This record gives sequence, structure tokens and C-alpha cells, in this order.
Amino acid sequence: MKNSSLSGISAIVKEVLEHKTFGAIRGALGRAIKLSEPVTPEVAARFLADQTFAKTLIGVRSQSEWRDRMLNDPVNTEFSVPLEAGGPADTRSTDSIAELALKSANAYIQWSTQGFKEVDSETLERRRNACLGCDQLKDAPETLAYRLALVVARDDPRVCMACGCLFMKKTAMPNEACPMPAAGDQNSTRWDEPIL
Ligand code: SF4
Repeated sequence: MKNSSLSGISAIVKEVLEHKTFGAIRGALGRAIKLSEPVTPEVAARFLADQTFAKTLIGVRSQSEWRDRMLNDPVNTEFSVPLEAGGPADTRSTDSIAELALKSANAYIQWSTQGFKEVDSETLERRRNACLGCDQLKDAPETLAYRLALVVARDDPRVCMACGCLFMKKTAMPNEACPMPAAGDQNSTRWDEPIL
């Protein structure tokens, strides 16, 4: 995919994620992919949790046959969340969802432009060992945002509470950094990498 197309897709993904309620996200996504109605909760949930799906769906928004295939993908049912369309739960604040999703989207979009390249095994081991000994590493909170993210991650459910990221994904991404300074060294992070 050309860089200009990628940045156009990224901009649309970000625009949808800027909406602050789950219902608004469903409506915005429906408009973005040229539907006359909001997308289903399952499609919106997958869009929030699965950035590859999100970008592909936006990428095929003008090709109705491909778009509809994605909307009817049986995998979407795995993203079923207990939200009633139009009901009170549908308008709950999704600040945390949007915040996590946007952060995640930005990280994934950057990662995708690098071909999902991972850090080398030595770096990965050093980072993960640091996280495993860190007081910021906790089980993911019981929120919709994290439940969605975990459906995608399908691995360790622990989260860095300093930045909100799933640590298994975060530590593999070359463009990610630990947000905390190392004890006694304000120039390095807890991953023993320079603070940029
Ligand atoms: S990224 Fe840094 S702050 Fe977060 S859990 Fe890992 S070592 Fe701790």
C-alpha cells in the first residue's frame, strides 16, 4: 500500500476513534465506510480492538463487496460485547476506550509502516525482564477497553499502568519506549534505554 494511502486510512481511523461514546463510534464508522446506518456493536468493537481489521475495513470502504464481507465476517462475533444498541450502556463514556484505542491505533499504525518488525530477541528479553520486575506491571483492569484489547492480544493480560499498554505487545515494538526513568538514573528508562 502506498504511504499516501496509508496516511489517509490512518487519518480516518483516528477521526473515528476521536468520538467519545461507543454509540458515536458506531455511527462515525458507519459514515466512514459509506453505510446509511451505524455499524453493529461487534464490528465497532473489533474496529477498536483490532487495528489491522480497522485499517483494512477503511481501506475497502469504497469496494462494497469487500466491505460487506468484512462486516459479515464470522470472526466479528468473537467481539460481541454486552452493549445494547441505543440503550443506556451504548452511551456510556468511552474516554478510556477511545484513549486506549487511539494510543493503540497510533502504535499499531506506526508498527505497520515498519512491516510489524519486532525488536531483536536480546532487546525483547531485556525489556520483558524489566517489566516483569516492575511495580507498574498489573493485571489488566476489568474494563471494556482492556477486554477488547485482550481478545486481540490473546496472550499475557498484564498491562503497564504507567502508559496503559499491554506489555507483551509494547515490549516487541521498536517504536515504543518505557515511560518511567530507571531508579537513580534520570537519563535511562527502566528498560535500560536512553530517555528520548
Ligand atoms: S514499560 Fe516500563 S514502567 Fe511499564 S511495566 Fe515495563 S518497565 Fe515498568
